[in-house]
Amino acid sequence: MSPLFEYAPAPESRAVVDIAPSYGLFVDGEFREAAGGRVLKTVSPATEEVLSEVAHAGDEDVDAAVAAARRAFGPWSALPGAERAKYLFRIARIVQERSRELAVLETLDNGKPIRETRDADLPLVAAHFFYYAGWADKLAHAALGRSPHNGTSGPDPRPLGVAAQVIPWNFPLLMLAWKIAPALACGNTVVLKPAETTPLSALFFADVCRQAGLPPGVVNILTGDGSTGAALVAHEGVDKVAFTGSTAVGKQIARTVAGTRKKLTLELGGKGANIVFDDAPIDQAVEGIVNGIYFNQGQVCCAGSRLLVQESVQDELLDALRRRLATLRVGDPLDKNTDVGAINSAEQLARITELADSGEAEGAERWSPACELPERGYWFAPTVFTNVTQAHRIAREEIFGPVLSVLTFRTPDEAVAKANNTPYGLSAGVWTEKGSRILAMADRLRAGVVWANTFNKFDPASPFGGYRESGFGREGGRHGLEAYLDV
Ligand code: NAD
Repeated sequence: MSPLFEYAPAPESRAVVDIAPSYGLFVDGEFREAAGGRVLKTVSPATEEVLSEVAHAGDEDVDAAVAAARRAFGPWSALPGAERAKYLFRIARIVQERSRELAVLETLDNGKPIRETRDADLPLVAAHFFYYAGWADKLAHAALGRSPHNGTSGPDPRPLGVAAQVIPWNFPLLMLAWKIAPALACGNTVVLKPAETTPLSALFFADVCRQAGLPPGVVNILTGDGSTGAALVAHEGVDKVAFTGSTAVGKQIARTVAGTRKKLTLELGGKGANIVFDDAPIDQAVEGIVNGIYFNQGQVCCAGSRLLVQESVQDELLDALRRRLATLRVGDPLDKNTDVGAINSAEQLARITELADSGEAEGAERWSPACELPERGYWFAPTVFTNVTQAHRIAREEIFGPVLSVLTFRTPDEAVAKANNTPYGLSAGVWTEKGSRILAMADRLRAGVVWANTFNKFDPASPFGGYRESGFGREGGRHGLEAYLDV
């Protein structure tokens, strides 16, 4: 194999972001300490350095945030849609203006490469606010909601009230945007809880809200752990619960909300199949496979974590994939050359390690390119497992790490059967030259998103969500409005 080019380090400057030693909760437009005085530390996963200390919200703080959101709801929902849109457009523009600062902050707190925060997360965050700003004055034209007078006038969809939103750590600011933008466009107010390992970008977003002049109480941010999330979703003053995270916690939340009047949407885990037929352009498919499972260190709910390759091209494809993986640069997330950054936490690293070890123990063949991992921080080399059977844990369970499980098939029927053989149903990919085959496969795959000759492509206008244990409800597009309207 040809030797790799040497790259000089190209670190992004940390000086563009000013992280305070501690942060409070953002309630009613002000930062305040947690009533119980408790705090959480947040660390850089790439270096284990403590970045800051954030407040840990308890029951009293949840009460205060929900009350602030309730007070703000009346005036906010009464604003004409065009007025709410102005705030959302303003937020989108401020996010764009501050995108370098926010990208560096997200990379520091999450561990993902700056190339991704700069080129994927931040542009998508701004795009999401722009997109839903555009809907705010057009809700009556979204074909949602009831006609007030038996069809004598158009539908008038109403907001739900106070939305409790709990998000995970893999795309902290993007998941915040997916939750907050449609909620506000529809006239709801929100209390959002970011994940305990990545609280900082949500707190910076609180500052963006202040800068945009958003009325106090419309957006409230409570940092804390699972107990804060549990108290928030159980709170009586909440009208809507939106959760993104693990299927296990999603099920607990569904039990909490059952029997109440709260409306619920759940975006949970996945075990996506990336299916490569023998007529696919191999080099493009390899890029799609890499993007499908090594983007964001594989910590992506819709990751293409199972590669299903047609048996006749298996050897050619795997040779090309191994060559490509040998060129991935693993290391400092702030270096602009880095392709694969740090795993978000020690706990997540332990989960990935345990599942990868089970793959070996159950008889699959493990391979990683030669790469030097930094000594400090949480790291896992890009990994490929071949000789994987459907019974192996690495083929059934979500690993949420840079680990690909390769299975083979001979016929389209076998590919469909294997792809659908999972309790999840979030995403799938199909690689083939034949348009008719793409359509036929998309019809039969039980997945909320099916990508054709591409993978992990996102657009605010396109609805995203799952089947079965991947959850229910859609985020993005016109469909995403429905989750925040009384329809
Ligand atoms: P997690 O479920 O442990 O945590 C998610 C959030 O829920 C965090 O903010 C956490 O503090 C909070 N939480 C924990 N226990 C809670 C409880 N009992 N009640 C209320 N809130 C609680 O998941 P994670 O480990 O942070 O994230 C990884 C998981 O999220 C993966 O399984 C992944 O597939 C899934 N995910 C799904 C999507 C999607 O769109 N479907 C997107 C990103 C991540």
